[in-house]
This record gives sequence, C-alpha cells and structure tokens, in this order.
Amino acid sequence: MAVQKKVVVIGAGFSGMAAATSLAQQGFRVTLLEKHDRPGGRARSFTAQGFTFDMGPSWYWMPDVFEKYFNKFNKTTADFYALQRLDPSYTIIFGEDDFMPIPAQLTQVYSLFESLEPGSSQRLKTFLDQAAYKYEVGINKLVYKPGRSVTEFLDWQLLLDVFRLDVFQSMHQHVRKYFRHEKIIKLMEFPVLFLGALPQNTPALYSLMNYADIALGTWYPRGGMYKIVEGMEALAKEQGVDFCYNQEVTSFNSEGGNINQVITATNTFDTDIVVAGADYHHVEEKLLLPAQRSYSEAYWQKRVMAPSSLIFYLGINKRLENLQHHNLFFDEDFEPHAREIYENPKWPTNPLFYVSAPSQTDPTVAPAGCENLFVLIPVAPDLEDNETTREKYYDLVMQRLERLTKQSIREHVIFKRSYAHQDFISDYHAFKGNAYGLANTLMQTAILKPALHSKKVKNLYYTGQLTVPGPGVPPSLISGQVVAHEIGLAYS
Ligand SMILES: Cc1cc2nc3c(=O)[nH]c(=O)nc-3n(C[C@H](O)[C@H](O)[C@H](O)COP(=O)(O)OP(=O)(O)OC[C@H]3O[C@@H](n4cnc5c(N)ncnc54)[C@H](O)[C@@H]3O)c2cc1C
Repeated sequence: MAVQKKVVVIGAGFSGMAAATSLAQQGFRVTLLEKHDRPGGRARSFTAQGFTFDMGPSWYWMPDVFEKYFNKFNKTTADFYALQRLDPSYTIIFGEDDFMPIPAQLTQVYSLFESLEPGSSQRLKTFLDQAAYKYEVGINKLVYKPGRSVTEFLDWQLLLDVFRLDVFQSMHQHVRKYFRHEKIIKLMEFPVLFLGALPQNTPALYSLMNYADIALGTWYPRGGMYKIVEGMEALAKEQGVDFCYNQEVTSFNSEGGNINQVITATNTFDTDIVVAGADYHHVEEKLLLPAQRSYSEAYWQKRVMAPSSLIFYLGINKRLENLQHHNLFFDEDFEPHAREIYENPKWPTNPLFYVSAPSQTDPTVAPAGCENLFVLIPVAPDLEDNETTREKYYDLVMQRLERLTKQSIREHVIFKRSYAHQDFISDYHAFKGNAYGLANTLMQTAILKPALHSKKVKNLYYTGQLTVPGPGVPPSLISGQVVAHEIGLAYS
C-alpha cells in the first residue's frame, strides 16, 4: 500500500479484534473504538468477592480455528494461554440419578452409544465420517467465503459438495436416520442449539458440529475464556492496532458516498474505511442516516433471531458435588421450551438450563473452598425483562439444581448477579436483547445473511455474529478475518 489507509473498527469483540489485527497485518492504520473500558464484548469477564466470572462464552470448541488464527501471525495459542481438554467433555442430566457424562475418548463414546442402543456405535462411526467431511469442507471452504454472491459457490467440486453436505435436509431428520434412542437423539441435537435455531430448521450440514463436539472435543483455557480475549488484544497491539476504550460511536460524517469521520461523545476520528463489529442492526438503525441503510426495519423484524438468555453468576461458599465443568439439565422436554422460544415467544414454562462450574477444573476462578457457577436459561428475544421474572426463574432453577444434585446451594450463595435482555440491550445495543445474533437457519445462511459490505456506503463493512458466517466465537473470529480479506482486495 503506497499511502497507509486509515481504518476505524467499531467494537472490540472477537470479530472486531480479528478484523483489526488482520487489517493491521496487511498494512492498514487501524484504530479500534470500544464502548466499554475493556475488550471482549459478549465475552467480557468481571471479578467480585474473589470470583472471576466469564460473562458469555464458556465452551471452547473447534480448537483448530483458534490455532489457525494465531498461526496467521506466526504465533500459537500456547503463546497466549494454556489449553486443557475436558474429560468428561460435559454431562447431560436427564433426571434424578440419571446423569450421562460424555467421555472425551472416542472409543468410550462408542461404548456409551452401544450400551444405549445396540448397533448404534457403527452408525455413529458412519455419521462422524460424514460429519468430518462436512467439517473439512464447511470450515475450510464455506465459512471463509464472504457471501457476496452465489457465484462464490459455483465451483463444480463445491456444488458436488453442497449436495453431499445435506444442505437441504434438516438436522432433525438427519439424526433420526441414524439413531432411535431418545438420549442419543438429545445428545446429537444439542450442538445445534449453539446455532440459535431448532434442529427442524437447521440444515444437516451442521452435523459438522457433532464432529466438533465428539471428535475434536471440549477445551478450556486455564484462567477462563477471557484469556483468549487478552491474548487477542496483546496480539492486536503487537500488530499496531490502536485501542481506544470508553469510546461509544454515536454517528458518522460522510462525503461523496463514503464515511470520512466517526464520531464519539468525546472525539472525532478521521477515516478512509469503517468496519462495524458492533451489532449490525444498531449500526444501521442508530448510527446511519435512513438513506445510508442497506436494510429496512421490516427486514429486521422478519429475521429469525437466535435466543436471548437469562444468566445468573453465582459465588458459592462451599464446593459442590455431582457437578462437572459443563452440565446440561435436560430433565424437561425440549419441545415445549423450544416452542416458547421460537413459535410462541414467552417466558418458558419448564425450561432446560445449563450450568457451568469452571472452578471444578480451575481453582483460580474462585476463592479456596468455593465454587463459581454460571447458570444460563435460553429464552426468546424481545421479552419483557424485569426483576420479578428473573427471581421467579432463579427460584425455579435453583430448586431443580438442588434436587437433582442432592445438596443445598441457595443458602451458600455469597455472590449473585443476574443478566438478561435489558443488559444485552444496554451493554451491546443488542437487537431485541439477543445474546447470539442471528439464527443459522437455511434461509439465513451465506449470501442470505446481512451482507459484509454495505449496499449504500462504499467504505462501510460489517463483521460479527449478525453477518457471515454466524454466531459463536469461532465464527466471529472467522468473520473478522473474512472482512479484512475483502477490504484488502478492495483497497490494494
Ligand atoms: C451468554 C452467552 C454465551 C455464549 N456461549 C458461547 C460459547 O460457549 N461458545 C461460543 O463459541 N460462543 C458462545 N457465545 C457466542 C459468542 O460469545 C458470540 O458469538 C461472540 O462473542 C460475538 O462476537 P462479536 O464480535 O460478533 O460481538 P460482541 O462480542 O457483541 O462485540 C461487539 C462489540 O461492539 C461494542 N459496541 C457496541 N456498540 C458500540 C458503539 N456504538 N460504539 C463502540 N462500541 C460498540 C460492544 O461493546 C462489544 O464490545 C455466547 C454468547 C453469549 C451472549
């Protein structure tokens, strides 16, 4: 690049940091503006009374995606954090005295399947072989595509792949082609929940998530998920990214179809290019003028959003029994809960929930003799969120948690903080208070997602969980790299 172009990136989430770092590596002069006083976005952390809580992501899946990211800069994850594979990967609680730990060893997973449904271990092998192929094509070819136009997918090998990838069959059908046992079906459909949609509406391409789960495993960065954020921030700074915290972007100045200045409450930043890693809807609807918006409000209202969450961060003054690092409470039927998320949005009657107890693995996240708990209930976006409702669900979940793990917990809670829709909105300007962005339904995949490049403002690009490839930490990392590549092509 003859003259270094200036880029302003909005938002220091995974996608914004990945975009900023990749752009700096290409020679752009990058300034990153973040509303909060630290990086991480939905993956921030906080400490209270000696506990360190990861606020968002807790599952480290697809370790190869993280490795590939750091390798781009001649680094490895080990330069920034120490990874540990969890065994069991997680436990599913189906009811009282009905706990199913999922072993890390593949041979043991085969034995588990065989014990539940004779003959199913062979079918699991076939299922995983195909899922491995989908992972290879999906992660190496499809998700790094910018989703500009359908022509990106017009290569014969890829077209052939698309048919072999079961894009037009649902995960619901796909899993039932192989397995009948109810517990196996629940186990095989669970990873789809990360994609924010129902197995019925998720293309069977995403059985690649089963490969990620069962074959690649569940990992944990010692010290917590925030270690990844710290590693990414350090790498970005090494590459020359200038981080500006407490800088909430409020508007833009434009000239000749381009944004030339980014405005915050206290500063004005001149720029040649803008990458918005903040929530897409917020940037479109609140920061741009109507004529600059690529999508109408009606378009947004028709999108299928991934769920929001009601979360409790709890500090417990004793060690707990019968809990692993990751615990899925599937002791209620998912169908009615799913309907209350997607079809008839309301606060759920008998929700499934998830409990993470990272202090089971990592003593640094809780004071000695204490337990760190993260309790999450997936709920529909756009619900009325108030203290009374949160407390009602606290009681409901704690009652089940105490009964199923057979111990008193509530009287040992010495720290409690809740987090739901209103917090997602005030912290991240999240559309409808969503937690995970847009659901990965077939009609919201690749070119059918909100585009990486603005249709109206020439030098405005988007990245993050509301554009390609979708929600989750690995996709957000990829999204940042893809947009940086696109900008590199356009401006070199
Ligand atoms: C509760 C929860 C649990 C999750 N669990 C997992 C998990 O276990 N594994 C997994 O892989 N994924 C998980 N995810 C999903 C994953 O965390 C997200 O997909 C990912 O972090 C999104 O990154 P992002 O960069 O797109 O957005 P964000 O992290 O939201 O980053 C956007 C940034 O923009 C900033 N911003 C917003 N508006 C402005 C403005 N006007 N000016 C300046 N800055 C602004 C925000 O403060 C934020 O820092 C979870 C998410 C949540 C919420």
